Amino acid sequence: MAGEPQTDCLFCKIVSGEIPATIVRESETTVAFRDINPQAPTHVLVIPKVHYPDAASLAAAEPRVAADVLTEAGAVAADEKIDSTGYRVIFNTGSGAGQTVFHAHAHVLGGRGLQWPPG
Ligand code: ADP
Repeated sequence: MAGEPQTDCLFCKIVSGEIPATIVRESETTVAFRDINPQAPTHVLVIPKVHYPDAASLAAAEPRVAADVLTEAGAVAADEKIDSTGYRVIFNTGSGAGQTVFHAHAHVLGGRGLQWPPG
């Protein structure tokens, strides 16, 4: 059920500690950790501890937690010192947009020039 930990969800296992990750920040409602396959010098994922398949379903059900994800994304950027040079926060939503892990997550990318439009 949405909001409950899913036994087959990679990111729920990172939240529980069952799978290790390089955690850079944690709040009451979120965890931020380094992406295992970084696409930029800084590539951190910010996830809600509760399980929703994507950002929109999280925001619809638990808007305060969705706001926490964005607040933590900004805090990651400040911690990583990419807030002054510019960074990107991305929610890939749906397989057509490249989403492969169906637990809501924000990619925080920076530390290099970022092109627009993205591929
Ligand atoms: P994509 O794989 O196309 O980036 P998503 O937007 O769903 O799709 O992002 C999932 C992200 O999770 C990927 O960037 C991937 O590298 C990352 N990832 C997968 N497994 C792990 C892990 N064990 N620890 C940290 N990051 C992971």
